[in-house]
Amino acid sequence: MNKNIFDGNKLIIASHNKGKIKEIKILLEPLKIEVLSAHDFNLKEPIENGSSFEENALIKSSYVSKSTGIPSISDDSGICFSDLNNEPGIYSARWAGNDKNFKLAMSKINDSLKKIKKPSYNCFFVCALSLCWPNGNNINVSGKVNGKFSWPPKGNYGFGYDPIFRPLEYDKTFGEMKPEFKHSISHRALAFKKLINVCFPSLKS
Ligand code: IMP
Repeated sequence: MNKNIFDGNKLIIASHNKGKIKEIKILLEPLKIEVLSAHDFNLKEPIENGSSFEENALIKSSYVSKSTGIPSISDDSGICFSDLNNEPGIYSARWAGNDKNFKLAMSKINDSLKKIKKPSYNCFFVCALSLCWPNGNNINVSGKVNGKFSWPPKGNYGFGYDPIFRPLEYDKTFGEMKPEFKHSISHRALAFKKLINVCFPSLKS
């Protein structure tokens, strides 16, 4: 038997971020299993002290799977701006402060880019996914989507930095794209495709 194939009936999303939980639940819907989140277990958030999206994703999935005895999937993601040495990167959530004020975080990006002489406005979203079983076995994949900074923020769909990110070859920001469409091209969708190939072969289209 392939130990990397997920054949359970319960999976916990290791996140407290409502936007992410919603997107991951939609992506996992075809599995027809019970999908819970760390929120349902009153779990604390582990300290994300990794130095990459991949390390932080594994910290979260292993913490939740070991604490609950149930396999767990985590997503560590963020946006990187080439003109800002790839910041905010793994600190994307922290740029919005404790109140998770993404209007403020998006303005901070705009202000920082204004200080750059000849900005390229190149940016990319990254999503690292980690699936971890209580015995410590884990699978890690990631997806990336390139784009351009767009100002002012546009659109009310999605979450976080979606209103200022326009994926290359599209004329709309993620914030202006209907969720089904974003889910077909996003960094999270690309990472999920890889995870499906390894762990959820029954979902392969
Ligand atoms: P963390 O992975 O929980 O540390 O948080 C990542 C942060 O990156 C989120 O709070 C969002 O602000 C941002 N982010 C990640 N994925 C997306 C996305 O698909 N759209 C918009 N913002 C995102």
